[in-house]
Amino acid sequence: MNKTENSKNVHEVYGDIALHVYSREEHTVSRQKISDNALKVLYRLHNAGYEAYLVGGGVRDLLLGEQPKDFDIATNATPEQIKTLFRNCRLIGRRFRLAHIMFGRDIIEVATFRGHHQEQEKNVSQQSKDGMLLRDNVYGSIDEDAERRDFSINAMYYNIGDYSIHDYAGGIEDLEDRIIRLIGEPEVRYREDPVRMLRATRFAAKLDFDIEEDTAAPIEELAPLLRDIPSARLYEESLKLLQAGCGLETYHLMREYNLFQQLFPIIAPHLTSDYASNTEQMLDLVLDATDQRIEEGKRVNPAFMFAAMLWYPMMEHAVKLMASQNLSDYDAVMEASNIILDEQVKSTAIPRRHTATIREIWQLQLRLPRRTGKRAYRLMELNKFRAGYDFLEMRGEIEGGEVAELASWWNTFQTAGRNMRQAMVNDLGGASTKSGNRRRRSPKSKKPKSSQ
Ligand code: ATP
Ligand code: MG
Repeated sequence: MNKTENSKNVHEVYGDIALHVYSREEHTVSRQKISDNALKVLYRLHNAGYEAYLVGGGVRDLLLGEQPKDFDIATNATPEQIKTLFRNCRLIGRRFRLAHIMFGRDIIEVATFRGHHQEQEKNVSQQSKDGMLLRDNVYGSIDEDAERRDFSINAMYYNIGDYSIHDYAGGIEDLEDRIIRLIGEPEVRYREDPVRMLRATRFAAKLDFDIEEDTAAPIEELAPLLRDIPSARLYEESLKLLQAGCGLETYHLMREYNLFQQLFPIIAPHLTSDYASNTEQMLDLVLDATDQRIEEGKRVNPAFMFAAMLWYPMMEHAVKLMASQNLSDYDAVMEASNIILDEQVKSTAIPRRHTATIREIWQLQLRLPRRTGKRAYRLMELNKFRAGYDFLEMRGEIEGGEVAELASWWNTFQTAGRNMRQAMVNDLGGASTKSGNRRRRSPKSKKPKSSQ
């Protein structure tokens, strides 16, 4: 890639924003790497006389030689004008209207250049109270649009008109230097939108970049601002941070910057200076396993990850309940699960279908030791057995002892043949086998209850 000396048409736009235009010969982005659908949208806008740029992660990742996750487009056409150009177009968003062009399951997001305005994050509820759709759709020029973006490496625009790249904040240089640099005054930009702090660590981990000094400096102190962000947004963000392939690295960075503690206040007291608490070992195991699954193209389940992250905090709570309220282990775990999950969804709104699975995985930890009679066979038929077993295995690695033995028993049992399985169950001991038999017999003995 050519350095800035080669670029022409350099002019100051605003503050530390300076436009560099890299002509087609001066950069490596090729149309062949852009999806057909994105190209279709870009060309249709262009042919209708509008400016049309590929922007954000699409340009960044192409310049890095990576395949972008999605292609975002920016234009000077308004959402209404975009809609007239595309039959398969849906306008979405209240705060800022965007056009989604649908190609089956592939969606190309087209945004109109955004202009300056006061950040309205805090006024959202006010808007909805008086029912007025507050005009947050302040459209602007491409330079204004660039200034509102978060990092220099995310503020590069690929112009479909002449295949040049418009780099507004030194993004190309920062890509070469492998630096995450916020556009503008860091503290101001973080206060406008605290999620940018999370994004800084996400991109640093994903791209293996350093966070530039001034960009990094205010994060630790401003991290508590994340508590004001709606939990639904933080949940979405937590998946991008932890379930997108670089979870382990991202978690370690987030921790360093006091960010992880804001998203998971329940886990915060379990973080230690030597990184060796059970919870920390569990975090390392589950995030590493998640990253590996993604690498192998396998599906990952957020419920499994959250269940692992919160297990020891939940158990600590359950043990207290057993002592203080004289509850059975089962009831204590149920009660502690409710308390811990209710608390966690306040920061990250884990959807109900997932909290249900988390509870199931946790309950299975109490059921997996009870294997006598037909129980082991029945457990294996459960929907969540596999998740429960995988979970037990991770616990075994951490806790060793009986838990590790139990995990290994289940490991053998699953692959064993019929006779072997029966022998394994029989081996569990006469007393418990008897109790298994007794259970089976008891309904029979109830049958002739004519006295009732
Ligand atoms: P990826 O999609 O690979 O995670 P991305 O950079 O495309 O990375 P998106 O969340 O898709 O990230 O956002 C697209 C672009 O929108 C970003 O590149 C950035 O320019 C801008 N952007 C997104 N979120 C913010 C934000 N919170 N503040 C300022 N600009 C943002
Ligand atoms: Mg993107």
